[in-house]
Amino acid sequence: MIQTQLYIDGQWQSPIDQGTRAIVSPADESVIAQAAEATRADARLAIAAARRAFDGPWRQTTIRDRARLLNKIADLIDRDAEKLAHLESLNTGKTLTESRTDMGDIAATFRYFAGLVASESGAVNEAPHHVISRTLREPVGVCGLITPWNYPLLQAAWKIAPALGAGNTVVIKPSNLTPLTTHHFTQLIAELDLPPGVFNLVTGGAEVGAELAESLDVDLVSFTGGAFAGESIMKAATGNFKRIGLELGGKNPNIVFADADLDAAVDYALNAAFFHAGQVCSAGSRLMVEDSIYDAFIGRLAERLPRIVIGNGFHGETQMGPVQSAQQHEKILGMVQAGIAEGARLVHGGKRPAGDVFRKGYWLEPTLLADVTAGMKIAKEEIFGPVITAERFHSEAEALRAANDTPYGLAAAVWTRDLDKGNRMSRALRFGTVWVNDYHPYFPEAPWGGYKASGIGRELARIGLDEYTELKHSYINLAPKAMGWFGA
Ligand code: NAD
Repeated sequence: MIQTQLYIDGQWQSPIDQGTRAIVSPADESVIAQAAEATRADARLAIAAARRAFDGPWRQTTIRDRARLLNKIADLIDRDAEKLAHLESLNTGKTLTESRTDMGDIAATFRYFAGLVASESGAVNEAPHHVISRTLREPVGVCGLITPWNYPLLQAAWKIAPALGAGNTVVIKPSNLTPLTTHHFTQLIAELDLPPGVFNLVTGGAEVGAELAESLDVDLVSFTGGAFAGESIMKAATGNFKRIGLELGGKNPNIVFADADLDAAVDYALNAAFFHAGQVCSAGSRLMVEDSIYDAFIGRLAERLPRIVIGNGFHGETQMGPVQSAQQHEKILGMVQAGIAEGARLVHGGKRPAGDVFRKGYWLEPTLLADVTAGMKIAKEEIFGPVITAERFHSEAEALRAANDTPYGLAAAVWTRDLDKGNRMSRALRFGTVWVNDYHPYFPEAPWGGYKASGIGRELARIGLDEYTELKHSYINLAPKAMGWFGA
């Protein structure tokens, strides 16, 4: 049985009150680990250690040291990729293929930020000859990093790599449902020669996250999760006006015009919605199809859905695993019922699959609800499960209006052979990412984040590093002379 601990000030330790939490496999509900469950008191110790480390010698590290550190971490991720992928699938239920892809992306993220950090040089500004004026980037300080359960280590990597690369110290709090890969990652960090307190792990629930958000000793909080927690973090951050980054939910339209390549659009509509059983913040669960091809498109999806292989993520043939928790399972089934009650037509799924192997665990059939209209709850709220809701539209203007009519703005996709129309839609959609004739790709080089209620700030890309820095104007007068302005 895996047992996890906290990592504070360079030491592995149990929570002060010895709290533990059983970690459960979403595939069969068996207990797979006992995780340390921290309290606010443990979080305070971790914050104090990170504060001491930031105010101490860590501030003297050079960009070369930090770039080397990120590259070393990437090498360790590669070394343990199979172990990490196994833990991620065990804890989240996602297929091993997806977890292996995550680990490759994580190592790439560390290498990308290593390169960016190494190229950081500040700027010398134009100034009088006796003055040196420089624009410098400096670390923000102690960073509290709070991550969700759907992409546990990937989301952590998007935060840890730029935070450490920019010279900050870190307290990370993964979701208490899925701490296993962040714990293993911390074991990799412990192999390195970092000063105590630079990297701290506290596993626990909302209270531990709230302590990070409220603490006056934390300078920045970067959070990925739901809008409810995001709002309380934003409020708590006013205590010391700490810097915040929020990556929140989405309600992401996947818009198919009649002139699209339909083979590709049908295929990607499934990929957009059922990747990781739809538990992706950018999942394309809101399918919008032009009227003239709507019925045929629904027909083609209906043929494919029963063929999707549901099963344990460790089996090679599995295409879709379970959802992560009992709570999610119940919530998704409730959303499907709410949709049917509002008049949506259940084409496929909407229930636990038949068979003995699916009796335990959080299994759901891939689900298609057709004839959804823009006003329905299922067209507006995030479902976060393997459910496609399909709406019909008659014109480009109608599609655009309906797609933008959501409080969220994380990601959208457009399918058309008319690239002028694709470009027009791409410009007019109010979303942080818009794909044309594709779904899901993201790279460390491109920014990730949302408009409107999908969040504040961006991760990845150059801006994803800049979020973890303060800008300083350093002005040095090399030949000071009295001015004689006042009372001379
Ligand atoms: P959640 O908000 O319940 O929890 C996220 C994290 O915040 C967890 O570690 C949790 O313990 C902690 N937390 C909860 N309440 C808190 C509080 N009041 N103060 C501080 N910390 C608190 O979200 P979740 O259910 O774990 O994740 C699913 C959500 O995350 C979905 O809405 C999804 O869209 C979103 N998400 C967004 C992105 C993105 O990039 N925008 C990526 C992945 C997930």
